[in-house]
Amino acid sequence: MLRTELDIVTFGDLLHHYPYRYADRSQIVRIGFIDPRADYIQIQGTLVNITEEGEGRKKRLVATLYDDTGRIDLLWFQGAQWMKKSLKQGEKYLVYGKLNAFNGILNIPHPEIEPLNAETASPGRQPMYPTTEKLRVRGLTNRSFAKLTYALLEKVKPGDVSEILPANLLNQYRLCGRYYALRWLHFPDTEEHEQAARRRMKWEELFLSQMMIARLRLQHTAQAGWRFDTVGEHFNGFFRNHLPFALTNAQKRVLREIRQDTATGKQMNRLLQGDVGSGKTIVALMSMLLALDNGFQACIMAPTEILAQQHYYSIAGLLEQMNIPVRLLTGSVKGKPRKEILQQLEEGTLPIVVGTHALLEDGVRFRNLGLAVIDEQHRFGVGQRARLWQKNEMPPHMLVMTATPIPRTLAMTMYGDLDVSVIDELPPGRQPIKTIFARDMQRAKVMEFMRKEVDLGRQVYVVYPLIEESEKVDYESLMAGYEQVKVFFDENRYRIAMVHGRQDAAERERNMQRFVKGEAHVLVATTVIEVGVNVPNASVMLIESAERFGLSQLHQLRGRVGRGAEQSYCILMAGSKISEESYKRLQIMVSTNDGFRIAEEDLALRGPGDMHGTQQSGVLKFKIADIVQDSAIMEETRLAAQELLATDPTLSLVQHQPLRYALAQQRKESHWGRIS
Ligand code: ADP
Ligand code: MG
Repeated sequence: MLRTELDIVTFGDLLHHYPYRYADRSQIVRIGFIDPRADYIQIQGTLVNITEEGEGRKKRLVATLYDDTGRIDLLWFQGAQWMKKSLKQGEKYLVYGKLNAFNGILNIPHPEIEPLNAETASPGRQPMYPTTEKLRVRGLTNRSFAKLTYALLEKVKPGDVSEILPANLLNQYRLCGRYYALRWLHFPDTEEHEQAARRRMKWEELFLSQMMIARLRLQHTAQAGWRFDTVGEHFNGFFRNHLPFALTNAQKRVLREIRQDTATGKQMNRLLQGDVGSGKTIVALMSMLLALDNGFQACIMAPTEILAQQHYYSIAGLLEQMNIPVRLLTGSVKGKPRKEILQQLEEGTLPIVVGTHALLEDGVRFRNLGLAVIDEQHRFGVGQRARLWQKNEMPPHMLVMTATPIPRTLAMTMYGDLDVSVIDELPPGRQPIKTIFARDMQRAKVMEFMRKEVDLGRQVYVVYPLIEESEKVDYESLMAGYEQVKVFFDENRYRIAMVHGRQDAAERERNMQRFVKGEAHVLVATTVIEVGVNVPNASVMLIESAERFGLSQLHQLRGRVGRGAEQSYCILMAGSKISEESYKRLQIMVSTNDGFRIAEEDLALRGPGDMHGTQQSGVLKFKIADIVQDSAIMEETRLAAQELLATDPTLSLVQHQPLRYALAQQRKESHWGRIS
């Protein structure tokens, strides 16, 4: 249970299950004197009237605790059965919990409760641990955690906890030793000790991650790569005769960086950041042509079938007159065509392949893959980058493209091992998208506006949220929304396409293509269209229940319009009941088109765990550090890691052995594996 719920297996894990705050349990309040404004309170008394109330899902267990000044109800909505069995009428209990009020009457839902005796009488200051409802109702309360940990710490001697940071770092950065840090983190006797312990453990955590990144970087720089020393007919011919527009200065600069990188004889590992619509695709294409000029194959991998298809069509279109074969390989390419593609890749007769994860399968072998481009990196697990690496004896050059601007602190952690290029300039002639906040009740007006745009020859998107936890309800509202759109867009005059995740790939694709080709005026969709889709004629993006999206996600969606020369609009629709905070977030969207600013705000508001796509990355799971609040420590650890590796790049000095071991350990546990 501890394992499945909190991933705690060993005593060590228990010691590293840190409290998130401390409760003052030195006070016991008399029930009649409870201050209704109090937050957490501790009381003691006799338990009576243990009864189950309500029916079905509303069933709850109510028990009344009284002392000689008054009484209060304790409530359990979950685990009622189990609690009922473990509580005894007429016994004395010590109770700690968060005060709640219902219709003006005080109660305590899901309190910590234990029989009152000499041992439990006065707990004092108590660490509060993250726990789960499941554990709690089984009696593994916070208090049990505290007791377990306390008992464990009693047995642990300073010598049992090995220090992993070298002594000179402890001195230089004024960090307390590991043994005391662990003790004080759980049971600090003073505020200073608590602070010192927290700082130390945060420092350690961030330092280990920065060490991993720095070592990966060292590995990269040592990694031999193909030398692209020719700029030949593919690249130049395309540039001269087929490029449909002039490159922006930013695009030119990035291409120069890529050319320099690939000419050194070392493997390129480059992250290309560019806001939505900044024109990354053409940079990817021209880099691939460079690979071709040097006798290599190239591939580009996208996270979804729709995106892969889009890339395929636009790349095949651009190369049409150049007689360069390009093919698309996704999960739905099967049978003979698939066999043919695999064969051509292996023979080397197919120079460019566009695809999805399907490219990673073992059956896909290249004759000489020189460059792999990964679009929209977030959607790929970190390990997947590594699998492309292994397609060759010598790893291909890697170009990772992302449209989500990443705050610096986050980038340092997620991509610190990569060199970074930035396209910080949009193609000329774009008008900034106008973003409008609208309430549900203005819907008729909004729809009328959209119809007008369509009558002017444009296309519009209507996007609905879809999250796993409320999938069923979300699909219902998507369907209801579709019906509603039909009311405003008469079927005799307008054509509406719909795409969502429950359609099979072929149907989704058919609908998508209707919109891409301009046959459908309106596209009703879930967030499957979030990244990369390019329909320059679309001028309005209506986002329903906008408050349910993350800022970065909204920014991505907004980026689907404003791709042509027309003035484009993004309408954020929200119900009347949204919170103050949601309103503030949406106002950020209204006030700026700057993806970097939005990303910073998003990170500050929601933390990295929620940032678009970072959940899957597996490299951001910090136990105690917070990359927003602890960015100063992060910077310290980054420098410290660099300095340490400058003096001992292979970690062979005696004083670095514990650190080396800790890193090896961490590498095994986390998903780092071999990152490209
Ligand atoms: P993203 O960076 O979001 O992937 P795309 O590569 O899809 O952006 O480019 C967005 C649109 O801008 C495309 O329609 C593309 O043809 C166009 N585009 C790209 N670069 C330029 C440029 N230098 N001048 C004009 N249009 C461009
Ligand atoms: Mg793109």
